[in-house]
Amino acid sequence: MLVNHDHHHDHAHSRAHACQPLGDTVISVRNAAFGYGGHAAVHVDHLEIRAGEVVALLGANGSGKTTLMKGMLGLVDRLAGEVDLLGQPVDQLRERTPIGYLPQRQSAAGPIPVTVRELVRSGQLSRRHPFGLRRDDRAVGSVLDVVGLGDLGATRVDRLSGGQQRRALLARALVGGSRLVLLDEPFAGVDQANQEAIADSLDVLLHDGLTLVVVLHELGPLEPLVTRVVVMDGGRVRFDGALDDAPPQLLHMGHDHDPHGGPEPPHGLGLVR
Ligand code: ADP
Repeated sequence: MLVNHDHHHDHAHSRAHACQPLGDTVISVRNAAFGYGGHAAVHVDHLEIRAGEVVALLGANGSGKTTLMKGMLGLVDRLAGEVDLLGQPVDQLRERTPIGYLPQRQSAAGPIPVTVRELVRSGQLSRRHPFGLRRDDRAVGSVLDVVGLGDLGATRVDRLSGGQQRRALLARALVGGSRLVLLDEPFAGVDQANQEAIADSLDVLLHDGLTLVVVLHELGPLEPLVTRVVVMDGGRVRFDGALDDAPPQLLHMGHDHDPHGGPEPPHGLGLVR
């Protein structure tokens, strides 16, 4: 089951994910450089993500989080190195490869008017369903409830606010039953109650063996789920390990940190605990 309607759900058990034995390597990045127009923006010596991990990509604005995530998916220029995804070189990925992806910026409204339900349902097409999840409207309805759009299934996507469109795209990334899901700032434009509902539903999926990579500017309600943090700084991995081991000054760099020497924002990444 996908949905947990209890917004006050206790995350205390979730740390158990961290104790489970890790599975196969699902993402492997080796000696890679990613960038734009022939210029490298991100360099990664070695980064391996294994089945069942929940990896938060953190770092200041412009540190390379989105570029790294896109590099993992073969969506930006790879100027050097190798990337394997689900055991295959990324350039051999097929349309049908079961990966859920929420891009950072994408309009949900295409040239053809579709309803919210149709948009989310498109996340179930061309998917194999590793959980035995069939293309089914109940799953679409459930995931729409989770993102707080339960009443808007029949509404045209182009009539939604920006934040609502973002939630519809998140629902599409989650509905396909993919074992590997990459989310770039999934909580942008999502209110607190819906953030917690989404965290709860991710928690349920994690018990089913999901691997999650998520770009965040603050851990927020995902903190109990995260098994590992990768902190980017200046296009390089500055820290890779357990949240508890991360140097506090790295976690306080702040999403809106001004690289030209402005004052530190008071709450940094919001990781102060
Ligand atoms: P973050 O996700 O941490 O905010 P990005 O990955 O978006 O960082 O950016 C990393 C670097 O790549 C920055 O220096 C940014 O200016 C550059 N960059 C990002 N997108 C593009 C693009 N489309 N074209 C050229 N440079 C880009």
